[in-house]
Formats: sequence, C-alpha cells, structure tokens
Amino acid sequence: MKAAVLHEVGTPSVVEDITLRDVGPDDVRVRLAASGVCHTDMSIRDGGLPSLLPCTLGHEGAGVVTEIGSAVTDVAVGAHVVLSWIVACRQCLHCLRGEPYLCVHGLDHSYAAPYAEGEHAPVWPLMGVGSMAEETVVPAAAVVPIDPALPLDLAALLGCGVATGVGAVLRTADVSAGETVLVVGCGGVGLAAMQGARLAGAARIIAADRVAGQLAAATASGATDVIDTTTTDLAAAVRDLTDGVGVDHALEVVGKPETILAAYGSARRGGKVTLVGAGRADQSVGFGVLSLMADAKTIAGSVYGATDPPRDIPVLVDLALRGRLDLAALVSRRIGLADVEDAFAAMAAGQGARSVIVFEASTN
Ligand SMILES: [Zn+2]
Ligand SMILES: [Zn+2]
Repeated sequence: MKAAVLHEVGTPSVVEDITLRDVGPDDVRVRLAASGVCHTDMSIRDGGLPSLLPCTLGHEGAGVVTEIGSAVTDVAVGAHVVLSWIVACRQCLHCLRGEPYLCVHGLDHSYAAPYAEGEHAPVWPLMGVGSMAEETVVPAAAVVPIDPALPLDLAALLGCGVATGVGAVLRTADVSAGETVLVVGCGGVGLAAMQGARLAGAARIIAADRVAGQLAAATASGATDVIDTTTTDLAAAVRDLTDGVGVDHALEVVGKPETILAAYGSARRGGKVTLVGAGRADQSVGFGVLSLMADAKTIAGSVYGATDPPRDIPVLVDLALRGRLDLAALVSRRIGLADVEDAFAAMAAGQGARSVIVFEASTN
C-alpha cells in the first residue's frame, strides 16, 4: 500500500509502497479515508521537531476498521474511526489526575517498533499514526469510533487540529460567555479555536494573521474583528478595539517568540494567555519580570487542547452533525497523496486553512 514516507529531514517526502506489520492481539488495521496535513508534519519534515526516520507522515486521520486483533472487544470491523495520536495508559500520575494528554506513556506506541517494511528499511509511523497512507495498524486504544453520519474527510480533522483548537478554548482557556478572545494565527488550528470561542459564547473574537487572505476564512469561522499584522501593531490594535483594556483571552497558535510576546501584550491585566502553537525547541522568549507579577496574567500551555479523545471526539462529532461546528469551513483543499509536498508549500506561505488528503479507494 502507498504511503508518504519521510527519509531524511529537510528533503521532500516520497510516495512509495510499504508493507504493514501484522495486526497484533491489541491492534486494529484501518483503511484511511482522509488525512489532514498538520503544521507538525511540516515541522518534522523540516527538522523543527524530532521523529524516528524513515517515517510515514500524518497524524490526523479517519477511516474504516478492516481487521481487529484477537483481544480487541470495543471496536468492530466496519466501524468508522478517528485516529488519536495519544494512547493514554490510564495509570500514570497524569492520567490519574485527569490529564491523559500529558500521559508519560502516551507516545510509547510510536517508538515501540517500526510498523512497516519499506523499499529499503523499516518504517516508523509518525506519532504512532502514519495517516498519510492508504492503511495503518495502530493499537485499538488509538481509534475512537464515531457516528458514520459524519463524512470521514471532515472527521479526519477532529484527530488533531480541531481537538487542539476547540479544546484550547473550551478546556485550557475555559472561555466564558461574553468574554473577549484574540486568536493569533488563522491556520486550521486557529480557525478551530475561533469556532470554539463561538461555541463558548465569546462576545468578541479577534483574529490576527500576517497573511491577509487568511482573515476572510477567520470571519467564516466566527471572528468579529480581524487584524492584519503586516500593517498594524497587534497589541496596539487590540487595545484600540477594547477601550484600551486588552482581551480576556489571547490564544497564540503560531509558536514563535514574537507572536507569543504580541499575545501576551494583547491580554488585559489579569487575563489569560494560552499557548497552542508548537514552536522550535531551540527558540526562547523573554518577559519583563515586573510585568509577570504586576500584570497578573496567566500563561498556560495547551497540549492537544487538553483533550481526552475517547471522551471529547464524540462530542465534537455531535456538534458537527448539529451544525454547531463548521468543519467544512476548515478545509481549504482536497488533494491526493502525491500532492503532500504542494500542501507543505502552501502551508509555508501561510495560505489556506487545511489541506485534506482524500484516498480514492475509500468512498465513505
Ligand atoms: Zn497536528
Ligand atoms: Zn498515562
């Protein structure tokens, strides 16, 4: 079966035939219907984040279960599923504290063993998922069965971007009705965060991006105001929009020092800054020590939207089926597996919300 395989950091991924390992007692085999192209995939390709290589890219997918292991009881062949890249152990300190997204064993399955044989070497599944391929084999605990009424090309987005963006607002930031929210970065996760703010009943949702074309998509996802950061100082513009006060919540969905500082500067005194973008391990950011105390702002990191996939993905499915979450608005392009590198180029240019790879073999 075909997979988009990354052999070396900084080189283009290659579509090639790989052979999946057999399904173990606790595993399931999934025929992918769709895979999102997430910024993290590009960061791994470009060396900003580490991964074992060669690996099949992709960690945001949905498909149909085609085979289950002998010990699997809670998912059946034919089930429509969303893939999760965290497999919580339910036993570690974080799991017991209700933080499965921080599970110390959550990514163990991705490093346990290669999952396929490639043309020249064993292949690893990126983040245990490897969704940029026609099929994958994952632990049963890495799939969340969903209502088949939701088209799988939209459901794929729930596995990373939407869980992350909506969860950051509803769970990490815990936005209340009537509050003001700034989202810095209008890619797929940023737009999902705006939709989360709309769900939470935020009174004002301010979108900021350096690519003016992204701001129209922001309006479609609930932004009430948009700021083009190529022409305007963000913190000053936010202050203008909020009677000089700043926003209750600033969410940074870029992962760069300058945008983190701009988000911090845009939050009101006592406000909350939620960091969603995955930045580089070799970059740092500095804050004025007096401001950190005297402005009494809270800075919180948000991993996977503080989501517990088996609990939260069915809720997101329900919201989508009821029209309260507009997943279609998050898809900017539907592409084939051979177009992955084009999708990375568009992402690097800041264009479009989400490219979604649709696999032709799957009609669901
Ligand atoms: Zn992702
Ligand atoms: Zn755990």
